[in-house]
Amino acid sequence: MREIFKQLFGNERIKSTLGESIERGTASHAYIIEGPKGSGKHTLATLAAAALSCENRSDAGFALPCGVCPVCGRILKGISADVITVSKEDKASIGIGKIRSIREDLYVTPNDSDNKVYVIEEADLMTPQAQNGLLISLEEPPAFVTFFLLTENSEALLETVKSRSVTLRMELFSPEKIKEFLVGHSSSAISGPGYNERLIRAVDLSNGSPGEAKRIFLERENNENDVVENSRSLAAHLISGKTSDALESVAPFLSGGIETSRKMLTAVSSYVAAMIRYKKAPATVNSNLLTSEEKETLRSVSLKRMISVFDMTVEALELVSSNVTPKTAVYDLIFKCRK
Ligand SMILES: [Zn+2]
Repeated sequence: MREIFKQLFGNERIKSTLGESIERGTASHAYIIEGPKGSGKHTLATLAAAALSCENRSDAGFALPCGVCPVCGRILKGISADVITVSKEDKASIGIGKIRSIREDLYVTPNDSDNKVYVIEEADLMTPQAQNGLLISLEEPPAFVTFFLLTENSEALLETVKSRSVTLRMELFSPEKIKEFLVGHSSSAISGPGYNERLIRAVDLSNGSPGEAKRIFLERENNENDVVENSRSLAAHLISGKTSDALESVAPFLSGGIETSRKMLTAVSSYVAAMIRYKKAPATVNSNLLTSEEKETLRSVSLKRMISVFDMTVEALELVSSNVTPKTAVYDLIFKCRK
């Protein structure tokens, strides 16, 4: 069977109804796409725009959109002049001015494809005046125009706007499905320590929205990378006794709670341990583990000092685990390492 909107997770009903009507050339001229943040509204609008103009749209031998013809290639990359996105930008609402400019542009024929698509983001933020202004365009647009009104809440749109559009509701997913989505969309590079915890957290907080789940999952990922990267510089600052640099590097993480501090201190202790091993026998340490700058710093630091920094780090870690606030334990560590 022909693959329709394959980049969109789930949403089989939308895929078959909208996809087939595009295939047959019977698509409506106005759609409301409703769903919470991260549910795939933009993805669907982009795929539908590409499908509408795809050169292979009536050839079932290709996916829909095919993704290989130049027209849908441009649309999928977001560089087609025929897909016009309208948003509130820095305003609180979408006013009549924006709608007027749509109306002025409406009858201008498409640039490089058969169709022109207007995507109105946060369509519920159109003022009533703007919605009324849009009505005529929704009612009788030129044959080559399709509107996609994206919204988290279609109830906020005027009845008259709703009655002139086909409403598509994005599918929300069970925790099992969200997990399946995340596992299918995460590269092997982002597995590793804490992977399962991150997965569970993202599933729990996503409210069934795949895009939101992915965002939370990756945010956590970036945060963990930051913690590790930061621990590295903290270790170097502790060794060299640079109090103000050390304070600066921990500042963003002290608000991260006990778990973050524990991870940070654990990472610091492993870096310091690696430095100690390097000092004792350079050949035993993987040459990429320490930067040349770090190695240079270590020349002027005694082994005794490094061991004492290591011990103090482990002590701070124990304090955090025994309910001393992370801030107290980490500051205490930094001041003890002062030179
Ligand atoms: Zn195509």
